[in-house]
Amino acid sequence: MAKSIDTKVIIIGAGPAGAGTSIYLTKAGIPHVIIDKAVFPRDKVCGDGCSGKTAFVLRKANPDWLKEIFSRETDFMPSHGIIMVAPNGRAINIPYNPSRQPGETAPGFTTPRMVFDNYLFEKLPSPYATIYQDANVKTIVRNADKTVTVSFMQGDEAIEVTAPLIVGADGDKGITRRTMLGEHFSHKAYTVGLRGYYEGVTGLHQENFIELHFLPELLPGYFWIFPMPNGMANVGVGILSERIRSKKINLREKMLDAIKNNPNISHRFANAKLVDKIQGWGLPMGVELLPVSGDNFLLTGDAASLVDPFSGEGIGNALYSGMLAAYAIEKAVHENRYDAAFLKEAYDGPLYKRLGNELKLSTSLQRLCRFPWLFNLIANKANKSPELSKTISFMFTDLNLRELFKKPSFYAKILFNR
Ligand SMILES: Cc1cc2nc3c(=O)[nH]c(=O)nc-3n(C[C@H](O)[C@H](O)[C@H](O)COP(=O)(O)OP(=O)(O)OC[C@H]3O[C@@H](n4cnc5c(N)ncnc54)[C@H](O)[C@@H]3O)c2cc1C
Repeated sequence: MAKSIDTKVIIIGAGPAGAGTSIYLTKAGIPHVIIDKAVFPRDKVCGDGCSGKTAFVLRKANPDWLKEIFSRETDFMPSHGIIMVAPNGRAINIPYNPSRQPGETAPGFTTPRMVFDNYLFEKLPSPYATIYQDANVKTIVRNADKTVTVSFMQGDEAIEVTAPLIVGADGDKGITRRTMLGEHFSHKAYTVGLRGYYEGVTGLHQENFIELHFLPELLPGYFWIFPMPNGMANVGVGILSERIRSKKINLREKMLDAIKNNPNISHRFANAKLVDKIQGWGLPMGVELLPVSGDNFLLTGDAASLVDPFSGEGIGNALYSGMLAAYAIEKAVHENRYDAAFLKEAYDGPLYKRLGNELKLSTSLQRLCRFPWLFNLIANKANKSPELSKTISFMFTDLNLRELFKKPSFYAKILFNR
């Protein structure tokens, strides 16, 4: 006989999306059960780069957390910007905050997911959160009384949790999306990434700018080097799965080839050592604004396909969607409404209002990468023009300015040097 538990909300997955939801549900005083099949600390294949959006959600949850993070120097490394290297090898340095004052905290950071996700996990215990680890959800069943029952084993004990609402925070290929919505990933919207941890990579930026190298053979994907704490670097490649299939690309070979033979990269790995095996995972990109809710469920993070199609950022969007999911749940509990129409308005609406334009712009940017000559042109001009370089920096932080990337007049001005 299974043990039965009734609650208001069930969250499946305790990565950034699930942890974000739980932290904000606790702030709202809403009882919930959060379940993960892993035992924390657990790893997640990732570039380990956290943007200002991650910092925003953490600061809003608790202003002390970012201070805590930046005080743990061996776990978290402040990062002040991005270096984008065009297909011709020319680099554009993009500070996250071009008008930064001395002493101002960094807008972003890098940290191994083994550390970061555990940091979030340790914030979960509260009188409102019942937490299960090592608990693989195997079935999700809709009941006649408009509740949902989620089942898993905890050691030898079978457990069934029932609630009017479940949150799918179970990542790429999670069970919640499959059960509640069906498969919706098209290959166009999917990237595959590989990650390896290296020590001894040289030539890293003194303010820990993360590096995206848009190598011609990977476009519209890229090779990355992210400086990490303790002299480490997270090194990887990401490429559209559609391209991998159509060009029969061996991604691991491409990554190792860049490290060994690319003239802009190889000398920096002359004395570098791979300290862990190279591992891969998928990135469900937010190129179509898919439904993220329905009767009795919400989807967050990778389960909702929210990875930025240009930068590959998914942690910030996972946390942000978790926060907005909790806000929507607060309304749902208050109104006692868990139907599709209510949840669409309470969750999909605000989520895409905040992230929709950004995702659309990033999709356009990703498509622009099909024209390497344009990328090269911008990099060449930005190298000669501090003014253009600064404009591009602001374009990364200001969404309205980023619209310029979509305008032919922006490129015409660069082309004709106006
Ligand atoms: C190679 C690569 C590089 C990346 N680089 C970056 C980067 O530098 N910066 C960035 O912001 N993003 C990056 N991303 C994207 C980022 O990793 C994801 O967007 C992010 O992890 C999404 O968080 P999440 O909470 O939605 O899912 P996850 O982090 O995947 O968490 C899902 C959780 O659900 C649990 N779960 C799954 N199924 C079940 C089940 N049946 N029962 C119970 N629990 C379950 C899992 O154990 C897991 O803990 C990268 C991704 C890849 C693959």
